[in-house]
Amino acid sequence: MSLDHVSALVSILGDESRILTHPQMVERLSRDFYWYSPVLRKQLDGKVGDFVVQPLNAGEIQKVLRYCQLEGVPVTARGAGTGNYGQAVPLHGGVVLDLARMDQIESIGSDGVAVCQPGVRLGRLETEARKLGWELRCYPSTIVKASVGGFLGGGSGGIGSVAHGGLRDFNTVRALEVVTMEAQPRVVFHEGDAVHDILHAWGTNGIISRIWLALAPAVEWSQCVVAFDRFDAAFDFSERMATDASWNKRLVTAFEWPIPSFFTPVKQYAPEGKHLIFFLVSAQQLAMMEEAARQAGGAITYSGAYAGLRTLPLLSDYTWNHTTLWALKTDPAYTYLQCGFDPATVRDQMRRLRERFDHEILFHMEFMKNGSGQVVPGAIPLVYYTTEERLNEMIGFCREIGVFVANPHVNNVEGGGRYRADNVQLLAKMRYDPKGLLNPGKMITFRAEAVAATDSTR
Ligand code: FAD
Repeated sequence: MSLDHVSALVSILGDESRILTHPQMVERLSRDFYWYSPVLRKQLDGKVGDFVVQPLNAGEIQKVLRYCQLEGVPVTARGAGTGNYGQAVPLHGGVVLDLARMDQIESIGSDGVAVCQPGVRLGRLETEARKLGWELRCYPSTIVKASVGGFLGGGSGGIGSVAHGGLRDFNTVRALEVVTMEAQPRVVFHEGDAVHDILHAWGTNGIISRIWLALAPAVEWSQCVVAFDRFDAAFDFSERMATDASWNKRLVTAFEWPIPSFFTPVKQYAPEGKHLIFFLVSAQQLAMMEEAARQAGGAITYSGAYAGLRTLPLLSDYTWNHTTLWALKTDPAYTYLQCGFDPATVRDQMRRLRERFDHEILFHMEFMKNGSGQVVPGAIPLVYYTTEERLNEMIGFCREIGVFVANPHVNNVEGGGRYRADNVQLLAKMRYDPKGLLNPGKMITFRAEAVAATDSTR
């Protein structure tokens, strides 16, 4: 760490308490949940920033970025550090820009649009929105901890996506402001299609400093667990509920046994050997849904009101990528994939995976609406990890049989499966971060020399 940089930034911000240099603190704020992946664990263990800076507003971000641009110091943005792919882990030291203190909700309008700073925790936004008759359209299962800025920077969807699609669909992110890392950093407003320049770019092409997020009208939800003797029956019923638009739901997750056995705190709702579905459905439709489940051969092992994020049990705590966490607690050899199955051939795809890999892969299905409005079977299957070769063989086989894989075992935007084919994220990086100092190494198609060459021909 260069002490010169620290003292320069202390005098720029005029507040020593917001520059953190204690090695343990810096290490903690340089990590995320990359260790879910045995492949990333090898690559990223020990990578840390040099020190942490905690801005309070966009003006301070501009000042920090101006200094770092001039001095050639890398800057890695951090929300709450709950990302899974080492997105927030600095590969080349430098500043960890911790946005947790930028946590103001500016407004939640009668039009259902929240305006907030990036460090606002999603759980707080959900709670405040519900007081006013709104709720998040979609959120990760890490809602309590994760930040709005980090969700835009590195997340994709989650609970609610079965009804409202992912974060990048249906104009959910109405607009954002982003601070550039030019010699004179600007605050640039992006709205409509232009938000995609910045979404899911892992903080490589600007620092999001303000967000306009569209909400949905709040619903009174209920939770329900249904158990089936056979996984195909559980999957059929979950698919029927997910794809039938007359059911008002926020979550439809199907787990094959033994996954439910990993959910220690809710074991009493997971009978031995049974395959489960976890639902969040409108309270009004609960009784009707339970009846439909019984007719399909299911048994209701739990149902109850949902009263916000403090509800116990909170079924969403076992879904999306929390499922992997429970598996890892049971056996550290588990890891995961992120898949999109073909709605027309999903059963055949699952059969072929089972034939080829037996119980090395365990099915955990999540439904989500895609950008064209079709509800499709996504999945975050568990994988019993043995070697990287075997994992890659599984990924290769998935792709061979038409299963889309957003590979969670790579540490760059391009490899993760959500990179835009039209290169808008890269083009924004070339404009906003010509020296390549924002989260360097994570957008591998970027070449600072290419920007310099373009500039010299202008
Ligand atoms: P961070 O991890 O801090 O950052 C994520 C990325 O965004 C990093 O690249 C960072 O540099 C960048 N970033 C942060 N703030 C900014 C900013 N202001 N401007 C620009 N870039 C920024 N994800 C899902 O999408 N759906 C899920 O259901 C889901 N479930 C999860 C379950 C578990 C148990 C875990 C560990 C992770 C899960 N995730 C999920 C991943 C992660 O929790 C979410 O994507 C979350 O929204 C990330 O928010 P964060 O504040 O922790 O971001």
